[in-house]
Amino acid sequence: LLRAVGVRKRYGATEVLRGIDLSVHKGQVVCLLGPSGAGKSTFLRCVNHLETIDGGQVWVDGEPIGFRLRNGKLHELREREVARQRRDIGMVFQRFNLFAHRSVLENVVEGPVTVLGTNTAQARKTGLELLDRVGLADRAGDYPAQLSGGQQQRVAIARALAMRPKLMLFDEPTSALDPELVGDVLEVMRDLAAEGMTMIVVTHEMSFAKEAADEVVFMADGAVVESGPPDRILADPSHQRTRQFLARVL
Ligand code: ATP
Ligand code: MG
Repeated sequence: LLRAVGVRKRYGATEVLRGIDLSVHKGQVVCLLGPSGAGKSTFLRCVNHLETIDGGQVWVDGEPIGFRLRNGKLHELREREVARQRRDIGMVFQRFNLFAHRSVLENVVEGPVTVLGTNTAQARKTGLELLDRVGLADRAGDYPAQLSGGQQQRVAIARALAMRPKLMLFDEPTSALDPELVGDVLEVMRDLAAEGMTMIVVTHEMSFAKEAADEVVFMADGAVVESGPPDRILADPSHQRTRQFLARVL
């Protein structure tokens, strides 16, 4: 479903991504680990085309992000068409970024109504189902400030799912939360994984990586150091760099 080939990104003179290759099959969960500054967030932003890339390609569901393939050549897409591609990719950040002046349900319904053109009644019905899925059906009328961080993050997940994405990207979704709130968010993510959602998850929650990931990718200094099944990467990594990192987080 996702294929990144030789993705490069630089900010000024600093090369932040130095040729990332990564594939995610439909229904797979890939956990991206690595030290601060490794380029994990930058990579997710490149996948979602929040950043333009300086080299390589990102393919989602057979389409090159930011381009159209015609007669064997890549043509750059206009902003509006890139926005259409981006709709297929849901993203959940460390900070929940909910609309503060809208109710929980309005937050979830906003995207489908304004972007997908879903009628309001249908969008509200689906919105309530999604809130139920993340355990917050009874909070639909509340405002974000009335919810805990963990609840807000679950609303953010429901809001992303409302766009019916093919791929979900999570960037440290639990690292801004108080420890006792982490579990509920991870449980929602585990459920999503079990239902077959394709996901890339940047996380320091090793228990999640161990249980939910099909593959773990360890990144450092803008490159993939090693990748493989969680059992092997977490228990018996091949590289010193990975061992150092795991010794600190496990
Ligand atoms: P963390 O675990 O701390 O979130 P990360 O692996 O997500 O780290 P990135 O946020 O992708 O790392 O950053 C990778 C490198 O790119 C860092 O050295 C950072 O300073 C640099 N960087 C990120 N965004 C920008 C930007 N907009 N302009 C300049 N440099 C940037
Ligand atoms: Mg980051």
